[in-house]
Amino acid sequence: MLSTAFGGRRMSNSVVGWDPQQTISFVEEAYMKETGMRRGVEIVKHIGEEHAYIFTAPNWVIKEGSITKFNRAGDTSRPHFFLTNQHLVMCELTTLQKKVKFRQVFKLTDIECKVFNGKLRIMTTVKSFECGKGRENVGEWNEQINSAVDRRRREENLPANYAETLELSPMWGANTLGCEICNRNFTVLIRRHHCRNCGKCVCGTCAFEKVRMDAVNDSKLQRVCNVCAEVLKANRAGGYGGGLGYGAVAW
Ligand SMILES: [Zn+2]
Ligand SMILES: [Zn+2]
Repeated sequence: MLSTAFGGRRMSNSVVGWDPQQTISFVEEAYMKETGMRRGVEIVKHIGEEHAYIFTAPNWVIKEGSITKFNRAGDTSRPHFFLTNQHLVMCELTTLQKKVKFRQVFKLTDIECKVFNGKLRIMTTVKSFECGKGRENVGEWNEQINSAVDRRRREENLPANYAETLELSPMWGANTLGCEICNRNFTVLIRRHHCRNCGKCVCGTCAFEKVRMDAVNDSKLQRVCNVCAEVLKANRAGGYGGGLGYGAVAW
């Protein structure tokens, strides 16, 4: 009787459709989610109302830790990162007041992350930066961020080529001694600027304009180098005009 019910195959003593490996991963995942949501409850107590939504169930914390971040000015800081199922959140922990100071939040769908020269390179549409050194588990962070990103993109049913359509913020180049366009050395008077489009270090004369950049989800004008300004303007030719440039160049 039984054997005909299962299409004539003998199923011995196993349960049909029961995959022990899959069951284990479901249980592990449920446990991780529960732990992560509990951690979220703790964080919400310390982060302030405005950002509580990030850590409120069903969102859950996958991973957290303080990592060295290499800043634009050439110095470093050590923010505390939270990876949740939806966001990567940069905070600062103040041990004295037991506060979690919110810094910035990035949507996982719009992140590209990789290990580059031993550092964790996190590129987003808003900001791109590098972090991690020594024993800060750069590889593990990279793996977990990427798997969370993949998962989130699947959940949102984003097309397979979604990553290619992202207009990621450029990595700012390392600070140079002189302008990368006119070669003048930077001084107190000749200030260093970073082009928001190509990331080059340039002087004020060579980064004359501020333009509205579609890639930056912000209505503020962004400083770009003159080379990029030309390209951006050409791309926009015939379209709507941008704002008044920093150098009062209307276009
Ligand atoms: Zn210059
Ligand atoms: Zn540029």
